[in-house]
This record gives sequence, structure tokens and C-alpha cells, in this order.
Amino acid sequence: MAKQIVTDPETGEKRCRCFKRCGGCQLDEPYADQLRRKQEKAQRMLSEFAPVRPILAMDSPYAYRCKVQNLYAADGRGRILSGVYQSASRRMTAVDDCMLEDRHAAPIVSTLKKLMHDLRIPPFDLRTGTGVLRHTLIRTSPATGQIMLVLVTASPLLPAKNRLTGALRKAHPELTTIVQNICPDGLPLTLGPRSITLFGDGHIEDIICGCRFRISPASFYQVNPAQTEKLYTCAVDAAGLADRDFVIDAYCGTGTIGILCAKRGADVAGVELNRAACRDAVENARLNGLKNIRFCNEDAGHFMRRLAGEHTHCDVLMMDPPRAGASAEFLRSAEKLRPDRIVYVSCGIETLQRDLKQLCRSGYRAVFVQPVDMFPHTTGIENVVLLKRAGKAPEKGTAAR
Ligand code: SAH
Repeated sequence: MAKQIVTDPETGEKRCRCFKRCGGCQLDEPYADQLRRKQEKAQRMLSEFAPVRPILAMDSPYAYRCKVQNLYAADGRGRILSGVYQSASRRMTAVDDCMLEDRHAAPIVSTLKKLMHDLRIPPFDLRTGTGVLRHTLIRTSPATGQIMLVLVTASPLLPAKNRLTGALRKAHPELTTIVQNICPDGLPLTLGPRSITLFGDGHIEDIICGCRFRISPASFYQVNPAQTEKLYTCAVDAAGLADRDFVIDAYCGTGTIGILCAKRGADVAGVELNRAACRDAVENARLNGLKNIRFCNEDAGHFMRRLAGEHTHCDVLMMDPPRAGASAEFLRSAEKLRPDRIVYVSCGIETLQRDLKQLCRSGYRAVFVQPVDMFPHTTGIENVVLLKRAGKAPEKGTAAR
């Protein structure tokens, strides 16, 4: 059988034969061309606000994904296949290997397929609504070596649970925790509200920029650790923090950016809608020995409106919304709160452009745009933008930085 991933012996560039079928990669061109394409897009869409710095590239743009999700299906002969979800057709495409994923994931998936066959654990069939295993999520941390396998099932029923767990641990001693998550309905690849730990702590820990972060199955966490270090360093440096500055970390996930700010002496309030992520954030503050940070489990727009209503003084607003960008309520409240600096971390360039227009209308000017290549071989571009309140003299901590 022809190899799925082919490496060019001269350049070291890899290409995947599943490119068209899978959809996980969207750019099938040399990495230098991808970077040029992304730089041009950032320039085209964001240079009206501020100078766009050269994109921060990866040294080796492969095997970076530390979050790996797989679907399962049985073929006509009862063999178990794994693959990815084609959103357009609502069907699974069988894929065995992936040049973007951490190399620890594929062998675990391969063992699981064999065990599903041997222990008669049927994959869940989206069309008929029958079967057991909907999908799996594997999270790895290169920094701590911890690996979490989440088995997402349609109901609490998981046949041969103990034998499955035992066999997985035996074949993969590198697995540090195995969790069953129950997701009765919802879109493919989502997690349900209930998790049962089958082995280990039920979460993993990662280290980014010298801080330790616990990650639970349902929490958002960046997928590319090498680039996340660059992204966070750029964002926290941009904030130009002085001791005791008050920082809001909006859309804080597991508290990462806020915790890095608190580590530099700022007083921080984080806000996050996802309950599991917010719980992780509280634990992460404790793990890093920080008392100058607190978290609210609520909608970021409501939180901002409340603080604006109380006339809270805010030095820096760090904001890292999902692809849909910030809500109108959030942006209106930011305008009222009048933080001295805003650091906008964005994974959606269209909504970033929209929100920057709004922020610039409400008295901010952008100082720089820093694109970061978080997702090589895809069209995604992450950007960090520093904004300052226009017409304001530099104050404590902001001068000469
Ligand atoms: N800054 C974090 C998370 C960024 S992803 C990190 O770098 O890891 C965006 C986060 O916003 C997710 O954790 C998501 O759960 C959260 N979120 C989505 N909508 C939200 C809302 N309306 N209010 C607060 N948080 C929200």
C-alpha cells in the first residue's frame, strides 16, 4: 500500500495523500508559501489599523497538534475504521495517520480499534442512533509527558469497561489518565456534561511559559504548545504590566493568560463561560501559588457590563474570544470601562477586523498587529493586537516599554 505521508528527501517538506478527502489540512503547498499567504492576508485585512509584524512561524510545522479527535465506524466486514468528520457530508473519512498530530496519538487509536473489535464495542452510528463509542479525544503534553484519552460514549453503557481500560494501559503505559465522557446527543465531536474517570486523575497538566496548567476533558486549551509560548509571551509583553495593574482576562479558558499576568505582579480577574475550564482556572491559580487572581464563571459580556456599571478601574483588558469575536455588549462595556490598554488575541481574522473597527471608533488606536502561525497547513491565522486609549499620556508602567 502506498504511504499516506510522503517526505521530500531534499526539502524535508511532507505531503499527505489524504489532503483532499480529509479536510484537516487546507493548504497543500510548501511552508514558506503558506507563511507568505498568511502574511499577505493579515496585511490586507489589518494594516489599516496598525503595522503588521512578520508572522511568527514554526521551526518544524508538523506533529504540533496536541489535541487529537477521531471518529469510528465499522466496515462491511466488521473491521473498525477511524477517521475524521466531513462536516459537508456528515460522513466519516477513514484516515490512519496525520502529519499534524502528536505522534503519540495514532498508536493509541490503532490499539483502541483492535480492542473495540475484540471486546465487541460497536462504534456509534450517527444515522441509526445505535452503538456505543461516538468518538475519542486524546490530549498530550510534550512538556510533562502526560497523555489523556477520553472515550466519548452515547450512554453510560460501556461494555467490558475494565478489560478495555486494563488492555489500553498495558499496551500504552504512557497513558496517564483515561476518562469516559457521556454525550447522549449533540453535534459530532462535542463532549457531554458528565465524565467518569476510568483511570488516573481525569485530567492532564501542561507547562507553558514556566507555569503549570491543569486541563480537564471539556476545557478549551490551545493545541500547539510551541506556538502558544510565542503567542502568550507576545500578548503579556504587549500589556506592558506594572506591579498591581488591574487586568481583566476575558474568555480566559483555563486561566492561562491571566495567570501569566498575575505572575508578573498584576491583580487579575478572569471570566470564562465554560464551567470545567473555569474550575481548572481556579485550580491553576492554586497550582502556581497565586493569590492575586480570581475567576468568574459567566458570560464575558455580562461580566464586563457589571464592572462598567460599578465604574471599576481597569488598566489592561486581555481578550481572547472564540472565532465569532466579542459580543456587542462586550465591546460597548469595554468602551465604558475605558481600560488604558487592550490586548486582543484572535483566532478569527474577519471578526478581529470587525471588532477593531468598533474599538477604534470608541477611542482606541492599534499599536501593532502580530500574526502567529498556530495552525500550519490550515488557513487559520492567530493575531495579537495591542490597542491604547487614544489621546492619553503614558502612565505608570506604560512609559518607555
Ligand atoms: N485564553 C484562553 C481561551 C481562549 S478560547 C486560552 O488561551 O486558552 C476562548 C474561550 O472563550 C473558551 O474557553 C470558551 O469556552 C470561552 N467563551 C466562549 N464564549 C464565551 C462567553 N460568551 N463568555 C465567556 N467565555 C466564553
